[in-house]
Amino acid sequence: MNKPASVPEQFDAVVVGAGFSGLYMLYRLRQLGLSVRVLESAGDVGGTWYWNRYPGARCDIPTTDYTYSFDPELEKEWTWSEKYATQPEILEYLRFAADRLGLRPDIEFSATVTSSRWDEPEKRWTITTDGGQEIRCRYYIMATGCLSMPKSPDIEGAGRFAGQVYFTSRWPHEGADFTGQRVAVIGTGSSGIQSIPLIARQASQLTVFQRTPNFSIPAHNGPAPADRLDRLAEDRDEYRDAARWSRGGVPIDPTDILGGTASEAVRRERFEAAWAQGELFGILNVFADQGVNPASNDIVAEMIREKIRSIVTDPETAEALCPKDHYFGTKRPCLDTGYFETYNLPHVQLVDLRKQPIVSITEEGIETADESFGFDAIVYATGFDAMTGALVGVDVAGRDGLSLKEKWVAGPSTYLGLMTTGFPNFFMLTGPGSPSVLSNMTVSIEQHVDWVAGCLENMRDEGLETIEPTALAESGWNQHVQDCAAITLHPTANSWYMGANVPGKPRFFLPYIGGVNAYRQACDEVASQGYLGFRLTGPGQDQCRDGIIRRMQPDVAMVLEFMAAAGLPPLETLSAADARALLAATAEASPPGPEVGEVTDGLIPVPSGDLPYRLYRPAGPPEGPRPLVVYFHGGGWVLGNLDSDDPLCRDLCARSGAVVVSVNYRHAPEVRFPAAALDAFAAVQWADANAIELGAIPGQLAVAGWSAGANVAAVACQLARDAEGPHISGQLLICPVVDSDMTRPSYTENGAGYILTTALMRWFWDYYADPADRGDPRAAPLRGNLEGLPEACIVTADFDPLRDEGIAYARALEAAGVPARLVRARGHTHTSVTMVGVVISGAPVRAEIGEALGDFFPAP
Ligand code: NAP
Repeated sequence: MNKPASVPEQFDAVVVGAGFSGLYMLYRLRQLGLSVRVLESAGDVGGTWYWNRYPGARCDIPTTDYTYSFDPELEKEWTWSEKYATQPEILEYLRFAADRLGLRPDIEFSATVTSSRWDEPEKRWTITTDGGQEIRCRYYIMATGCLSMPKSPDIEGAGRFAGQVYFTSRWPHEGADFTGQRVAVIGTGSSGIQSIPLIARQASQLTVFQRTPNFSIPAHNGPAPADRLDRLAEDRDEYRDAARWSRGGVPIDPTDILGGTASEAVRRERFEAAWAQGELFGILNVFADQGVNPASNDIVAEMIREKIRSIVTDPETAEALCPKDHYFGTKRPCLDTGYFETYNLPHVQLVDLRKQPIVSITEEGIETADESFGFDAIVYATGFDAMTGALVGVDVAGRDGLSLKEKWVAGPSTYLGLMTTGFPNFFMLTGPGSPSVLSNMTVSIEQHVDWVAGCLENMRDEGLETIEPTALAESGWNQHVQDCAAITLHPTANSWYMGANVPGKPRFFLPYIGGVNAYRQACDEVASQGYLGFRLTGPGQDQCRDGIIRRMQPDVAMVLEFMAAAGLPPLETLSAADARALLAATAEASPPGPEVGEVTDGLIPVPSGDLPYRLYRPAGPPEGPRPLVVYFHGGGWVLGNLDSDDPLCRDLCARSGAVVVSVNYRHAPEVRFPAAALDAFAAVQWADANAIELGAIPGQLAVAGWSAGANVAAVACQLARDAEGPHISGQLLICPVVDSDMTRPSYTENGAGYILTTALMRWFWDYYADPADRGDPRAAPLRGNLEGLPEACIVTADFDPLRDEGIAYARALEAAGVPARLVRARGHTHTSVTMVGVVISGAPVRAEIGEALGDFFPAP
């Protein structure tokens, strides 16, 4: 029912797409009293479930969870027939929902949006369809799905085949009958893996062309899971709420068992239970660290490979079906019904395209580097231009004609995956930068729709007309999305999550991997903080609370949450002895840090007595002496010892290739200022004099330290300069204490909540130095003469009270003519960079530090 182009219809909102998200969005907008038009290119509701009609198409989230939850009545009136419903049943469900909620009158079918542009003076979108129809609206909402734009066949000769061609993503409504046919399937992702066993039942000969083998586990389809049904029956609201605040949108008990430390029996038991359960979030939860730790991931991956080898009888085929080029979970794992078993059938053949790539599709079939195959039908199960394809596929022009496609040419940029700067009132449901495809879509869809509806309700109540994210908020969110991905194994895979399946698509991790729960929390906070990071305008109104919703590295935030939950007492409330005991227990429980070649303990004879030291020698070549780094541990001159900083010293040693000598100087309150600093200088003198015995190159000595250890390292450099020796090549100061002035802004911003607090710093100072001594350059090196000091690398952390004095020291050194490299640990706290093996996001910072240490010395 296309309307004449000359009379644009007016609506408050246009929604594109009538799948799960579009239907619910329509329902919510109507509830707000808005006039809405839904434009849908298909002939009916259903979205992905309208198009993907290939044999075997099913959901792979249990139907107990893959369902609308916003209306208990709707839930009561529908009963799913099995654990994983077929495509026809899911389509039927969406038809039922549309009818039951009376949504159809506002949906226009067979209407494809071709272009849309923002009219700034009118503050409205004009949307054009393929029928030439124009619609004007205030709010423009894309409910176009993440996996809706099929990837065009990127295989030579694809148009030449004379037989039947099918795409899993555009399956004919009348179905396909392969009885007696020679059929090729290209692609072994979820669509291929679901359809291959059923196509094999009909075809006289089936040849599967596999480029990358995929991990798949048996779905064990059947009745809906009894445990989930019981929980729902007991307390539906509690169950749904648990889903909303879970990591993946399906309630599970997240494990805290680590792959590396679990016994073989526990590993096997957890894996077999997940294999038997047949749920995606189960097999992704065998170990807590399988998504981030290669060794842990390998355990799960190898167990799956074992299963494949035990199912597939031909060893060569089995091996070809075993995924080995990506970590488990970094490409979307699949659920199957008899997939691997299908390869035991005599008429089914696997062609490994890694061994014999396709040269061309021909009129008769497919030609590989080794063979020519004749077929009656070719099925493309080759996937989608995921997450961005459907959005940039429409010509969307925002303010000043900015095209979405152009804006996203280097990768999508969004705030919360919901909106993008330059496109006012343009919303994306489950857009890039939101959990979407990594989660139970129905939960994520409801969350997005509810957020958008809440936002529009707020705008209506406040008399506001436009909303748009700020550039700062958007870049902050993009950074956060990438930070979350960077600590996982995901970026290592050539997956569609990374845009790697579409030639020419920028490599960019598309979804938000921080979890449905963390994401919901962020969205809620944005709204409750007056729509932080959005500019909202209306007649006589222009509101903007600019800012970034998540600046902290995600794993640092997790550590803080964990520590808060552990309820540890603040160190400053303890005696020095109790604080030391607490720290020793923490060190005991910490991961050990990387292997190095050799670790030996010894004593440094200094005038005050013997100081314990630990020497770390790098593994491997070259043989012979190395540069030497004398390291001083952190702990506010009161706490810490050789054990507390052992993992960091190993890391510094392994990364820099230098011999590291960690020195345990004397501590306050037993021995106060300036003992620690004098010990440090004495240790440097000793190390310099004993370089050969330590296996080091004489004259190539640097100092390093963290926190108070960096304080004494910096002081040692000043003392060495004044004493005209020993020569120090460089100073690495990690989050150093360089001043006793606690009034800098970083003390105000970060004085509480990030482990090193203002109160703790005061506690340290009180133990270490009298107020009258705190301005002495041997306590506050920033106040000393900085000329002629060794070049420096200074690390500061965003959430550290000491951040600003570290920056001040770097600037003051530069002003005094001393080269100073400032490494800003973005999103880190005073302690997190040093948490080797715990805080993964600290690794790139430590890599930079290791490089800086190496740069202090002449090239070998
Ligand atoms: P996919 O996972 O991207 O798989 C496409 C397959 O085609 C891959 O094996 C790919 O190999 C192969 N391929 C692509 N281009 C090729 C070429 N030029 N030559 C040879 N092989 C080629 O796509 P999909 O199977 O349609 O699944 C996409 C996503 O949709 C899934 O990951 C899932 O999220 C969703 N889905 C869900 C279900 C469900 O159970 N609910 C069902 C279907 C789909 P490479 O890996 O080497 O690129």
